[in-house]
Parts: sequence; structure tokens; C-alpha cells
Amino acid sequence: MTDGRDLADGPTEKCGVVGVSLDGRAAARPLYYALYALQHRGQESAGIVTHDGFQQHSHVEMGLVGDAFDEGDLDQLNGPTGIGHVRYPTAGSVDNSCAQPFSVSFKSGSLGMSHNGNLVNADEIRDELAGLGHAFTSDGDTEVIAHDLARNLLEEDLVRAVKHTMKRIHGSYSLTIMHDDTVLGVRDPEGNRPLCIGKLDDGYILASESAAIDVLDGELVRDVRPGELVILQPDGGGFDAYQLFERENTAHCFFEHVYFARPDSEIDGNLVYEVRRELGRRIWEESGVESDVVMPVPDSGRAFASGYAEAAQEEGADVEFAEGLMKNRYVGRTFIMPTQDARERAVRLKLNPIRDVVEGRSVTVIDDSIVRGTTSNQLVQLLRDVGAEEVHVRIGAPAIVAPCYMGIDMATREELIAADRSTEDIREEIGADSLAYLSIDAVAGALGQSRADLCLGCVTGEYPYDIDGEATDRDVERPVIGGEPEDERTAPADD
Ligand code: AMP
Repeated sequence: MTDGRDLADGPTEKCGVVGVSLDGRAAARPLYYALYALQHRGQESAGIVTHDGFQQHSHVEMGLVGDAFDEGDLDQLNGPTGIGHVRYPTAGSVDNSCAQPFSVSFKSGSLGMSHNGNLVNADEIRDELAGLGHAFTSDGDTEVIAHDLARNLLEEDLVRAVKHTMKRIHGSYSLTIMHDDTVLGVRDPEGNRPLCIGKLDDGYILASESAAIDVLDGELVRDVRPGELVILQPDGGGFDAYQLFERENTAHCFFEHVYFARPDSEIDGNLVYEVRRELGRRIWEESGVESDVVMPVPDSGRAFASGYAEAAQEEGADVEFAEGLMKNRYVGRTFIMPTQDARERAVRLKLNPIRDVVEGRSVTVIDDSIVRGTTSNQLVQLLRDVGAEEVHVRIGAPAIVAPCYMGIDMATREELIAADRSTEDIREEIGADSLAYLSIDAVAGALGQSRADLCLGCVTGEYPYDIDGEATDRDVERPVIGGEPEDERTAPADD
């Protein structure tokens, strides 16, 4: 455990990544549609890099996917292989030097790289490589990984080069990489951020979430395993997989399931929607409260509230499930607005209660999480303003007490309402009649995983990666395991 520096203030990557390899057809449009499906993972910038067998083509712009590309942009992105990226915004840092995919040509060939996650020792490696003459154009982690890999590729084949880079970098990463016209996917040895493999009619895709495979009418093959390298064959005919590292425990991010991922995605064997409904059922088991109506905070609270209401009704509770809050979908992300004033105004613009559902009734309102407390605070007041008799707040995650250093923009420690307050203090502050969070055990139970296999840093303050960049027990490298037949290979010996 470490308290560490407040890395949340520095550049972190909270993103969506994709890569495709097709049998002759241009990769640009499938990549574009896949990025659309991953838009919720990043709204600051969008980019695609393709390779036509001779050279790389790149288009990266600030803004949403639909605005970042026009037909002409897609037409010039030639070639049947490519990668893409959407980047998540952070308050105050709108900076295109960190927009991705990062692409560059080295002596060892061209490289493109899309990264979701956050390294904890990027500065050290950057300093070392800068000392060796590498020139950096951004302060992001991704460029550090690209330079390190390019350097290894001068002396080693692709698999060994990736393995050596993975050995040096610490932290969370799901990467899609283009080396010349070959697309690869890499997931960090703890599997912190998601990455999966899909089969298309005429090729293969790697993507942060399976929803990106669905939009291309593909089929989910499986998740990329923690510590695994997957290389898509350039003709779209298949993939080779190499289990390069294996750790005793994984560190899957539970918050992907609670908030970040799309409910229609399947991650590490769990459909996110089902997990959220199960979490809702467990809220009822742990802290169900009698009320006339239960309602979600749209959109993320929906599956939780339906699971909660179902479990309540099964036990005979006389509670109605209703959509008592309407969301204006044209208001942007309130979360990342720079001032508290702007965030409060935006919550009001975004959510409006339906008086008839609420007036004169006791209400249980369910959201996935409380971060700064802005939403709950405003909501409780709004519901009282339209005549709610009682307002009970139930949350589908444990209290968030510490920042995320692994790739989700949470807020700084000082901003987190639960960092130094008890649940009772928070209840009082948001003005609710009652407030309950879900327990960590309930989260682990709903995911079907042990606590030891989850990253729970934001709810415990204990991180599976040492955020000061020092090795942890988990960094002990274990022998490479054997692969499965046909498309799986064991890694080369470390030399
Ligand atoms: P807050 O209003 O600061 O307490 O934030 C909680 C609200 O923001 C909840 O409604 C969540 O659905 C949403 N939320 C939670 N985590 C994030 C995040 N990392 N980025 C954007 N929104 C979030």
C-alpha cells in the first residue's frame, strides 16, 4: 500500500482502443464504426492509423468520433490493417499532443500505438531513453512505450521486443499496436483494463469492449488474457497468441463494470448489464429500504435500479419501479467541468424530476457511484423541491475514498466526498433521509471474483501497482505457461 503522489493531476490515459486486420478490405470504416461504439470511453479526441503494406496513414483530431472524421479523411486512410483510439477528457487539459494513436517511424520500422491505462514508471523510462538520444514530443506514457519498443525492435524479433518492453513498464495498459502492417494487442500482466478479440466475416478485431465487435456484426472470440500478446495475421486469416507473463492474481478494475463500460459489453466473462443488475439485487439484500418508488439516476443507475426493484418485489415489498428523472442527453459530461459551480449548474440542466412520480411519495434513488457528491447533493434537493416525502440514496459501489491511478479519471483526493467522511456525514451533507453504499464483498461476489483478483484502489486506497513505481510482490515474474493448440504459442525464452 502507498499513499503516493497525487498522480491523478498528471496525464493519465482513460480511453478506448481498437485494432483490425482484414482480408483486403480497407480497415478505416470498420475502425471508425468501432470507435463510435467506444465513444463513451473517450470524448476528447479520436484517431485512426492504417497501413497499406508500404506506408502508414494517420488521422487524429480533437473532438467526438463523428466530428473528427469526414468521408475524405476515411478515404485517405488506406490499407486493410489499422488501429484506433478515443481519448477520455481530463479537466483543464485539452491538449492534442496526447491525442492518439501515437505514430512514428523508427529505424526498426513504423509504429502506431493506442493505449488505455496508466504507467507508474513512465518518467523513469522516459529519462533513460532521452539520455540515449530519443526525442519525445509529448509527456504521455504511450510515446514512452513506443520508443522503448522501437529500441528493442532494432535487436529482437517482435515477440521478444514486446516481452522486454512489458518487463520494463509497470502499471496498467491495454494496447493496440501497429508495427508496419501487423496489428497486435497487449494486456498488462494484471489485466487491469479490458481488451478482447473478435472475429469478423473477413478478419479479426481487437477492442476495449465487445460492443465494438457487435457493431461490426462480429463474434466475440475471447478476452485477451492478462500478460498476453496477440498478433493478428496481416491477411485477416487468424491470430497468434503468446502468454508472456503470468501473475498469481489479476487486478481487474471493478469500476469498469460499475460505471465505465457499456452495459452491453462482456468483459472477462461477465456481461456488464447482468453484473449491474446483480449489484442492484445485492443493494436490496444489504440495505433495502421501504419506499413507494425506486428510480435510477439515468443512465448509469438503470440496471442497478431494475435489479434492486426486482429483488425487492420478489420479497414482497410494495415498491414501484419508475423513471422519475429525465436526462437531457445533449448536456455534456458534468463530471469533468472545471468548477464546482459549473458542475452544479450542469447537473440541474441534465436531470429533471417528473413531479407526478415523486410528489407526496417516499423515494429510493439509485446511482452507480458518488465521487465528489455533486450529483447526489443536487438530486436530493431536486426531489424534495418537487415534493418527495423521503429521499433514500443507494449506491451500487463502495465509497470512493482514493483517486484512481490506473486509468479512470476520478478526481483528486481532496475532491472526493468520502475521502475523509463517514457515511453518516455524507448523508447529512447531501441531505438524504438515508444513504447506503454497497460492500466490497458484494461487488466481488457479483463479479464472481475474489477480492485479491480485483483492483479496488479507489475504494480501499490500496493499489495492486506501486504508484511510486517500485516493484510490488505482484511484480515477481512467473514462468510462462503453455498455450492452447493451433493458434496459441508459448513465449520465447527470455534471453
Ligand atoms: P459526483 O457527482 O462527483 O458525485 O459523481 C458521481 C456521478 O458521476 C455518478 O452519477 C456517476 O455515474 C458519474 N461518474 C462516476 N465516475 C465517473 C467518472 N470517472 N467519469 C465521469 N463520470 C463519473
